[in-house]
Amino acid sequence: MTMHRNFIAGDWRDASDGNDNINPSNLGDVVGVYARASRTETEDAIAAATEAFKTWQFSTIQQRHDILEFIGNEIIARKEELGRLLSREEGKTLPEGMGEAVRAGQIFKFFAGECLRIEGDRLDSVRPGVGVEITREPIGVVGLITPWNFPIAIPAWKIAPALAYGNCVVIKPAELVPGCAWALADIISRSGIPDGVFNLVMGKGSQVGQAILDNRAVAAVSFTGSVQTGSLVAAACSARGAKFQLEMGGKNPLVVLDDADLDNAVDCAVQGAFFSTGQRCTASSRLIVTEGIHDRFIEAAKARLEKTVVGDALKEGVQIGPVVDETQLAQDLNYIDIGRQEGATLAFGGERLERDTDGFYLSPALFTDVRNDMRIAQEEIFGPVATVIKVKDYDEALTVANDTAFGLSAGICTTSLKYASDFKRKSQAGMVMVNLPTAGVDYHVPFGGRKGSSYGSREQGRYADEFYTTVKTAYTLPL
Ligand code: ADP
Repeated sequence: MTMHRNFIAGDWRDASDGNDNINPSNLGDVVGVYARASRTETEDAIAAATEAFKTWQFSTIQQRHDILEFIGNEIIARKEELGRLLSREEGKTLPEGMGEAVRAGQIFKFFAGECLRIEGDRLDSVRPGVGVEITREPIGVVGLITPWNFPIAIPAWKIAPALAYGNCVVIKPAELVPGCAWALADIISRSGIPDGVFNLVMGKGSQVGQAILDNRAVAAVSFTGSVQTGSLVAAACSARGAKFQLEMGGKNPLVVLDDADLDNAVDCAVQGAFFSTGQRCTASSRLIVTEGIHDRFIEAAKARLEKTVVGDALKEGVQIGPVVDETQLAQDLNYIDIGRQEGATLAFGGERLERDTDGFYLSPALFTDVRNDMRIAQEEIFGPVATVIKVKDYDEALTVANDTAFGLSAGICTTSLKYASDFKRKSQAGMVMVNLPTAGVDYHVPFGGRKGSSYGSREQGRYADEFYTTVKTAYTLPL
């Protein structure tokens, strides 16, 4: 197999080391071999971006708009092929993979529009005759470090605003899913973008990622991944005064009240907790259910799970694909053991499944009789494992929902305007959903959380400018 190369300074560069990209639905299927950059190659990419920034920072908004529009259009035109690649390398189902590819295209098109809407302020000075202008300027070379669970959407929602506001990019995708990032880089390389403005360096976190964190020429780092790696990013960036933004875990509550529409609540819970194999930082991993509806909710959820099809991500009709890899599967199974030992009841699933091909298949696991202080209710599992916590009433539900180290997304299923409004106000999360799953967000509005989930300003939508620009205040006395 030929190696997919890194894209540095406008060239596709060979690497001495490569990495097999394995299909988690079928371990015999190698999606491709992808280059692993060294520290030196990463430094070359950063140097190229630094050089390119000298002119790119003064590029016209029309040029940037046209480049982003081209990228967005091509992604959308190739959604089936890209969606298939995504499902094959990551394991989410084909409709989910295609949906994610389209979203990536929409993000580029949204930020193409944003290029034309970069705003500033003009104020009078307190001094006579003086004017004040406040403008946003690019920050420089940005390092983007992305996880495996959204192989095209997360790179897109970092690359698009970075370029839109005039920055140069060095991106390091997760080692498990270099395919989508490579395909995206291939599209970007043909968009008319000047050499060095965009660089792809695939490889290991400890090599490539660390080289990005350590390099003084990288002005800002946007990271999505685990809490553990996030704290390394924070420490390295703080030490050298670089700007950083972290998107990390979640342990998202979905409250179901007695007055909820049962069918809708079960839909929200099953989709939110188990679709995309539960591998979303916005997954509904804590289902907090009031006692009047609790038993009916569990019965209905179990009946829905019975009918849920787990299998090869590329097969028609499959609703839940495999777990992404062996390490993640071991983590999921370990937490299922922990849940049992903690005294929770495994009401459904949690078993390794056999399919036609050798893959990391796991049946969706639903724990009941869970207390919120159990590890399975407090620690992010990042798999198809959900916990049900029974509570007396809305007040207790709200307290339990907020009793977590995380604060990314939170949901409530209710037909009461009073409780919905109160929950929207008092939920300690960055995103709140009413009668909707905690996962599944729009591409044109801010994304991000509070507490241990996120650090720094929001991603996506027009709020992205806060991270990808720096503010300048200019005073003029016309003579
Ligand atoms: P996940 O496994 O959920 O993707 P990780 O935090 O392990 O979460 O990985 C997220 C991204 O961070 C990946 O691209 C990974 O390679 C990268 N990474 C891992 N270790 C480091 C590190 N020491 N420095 C910089 N990046 C790293």
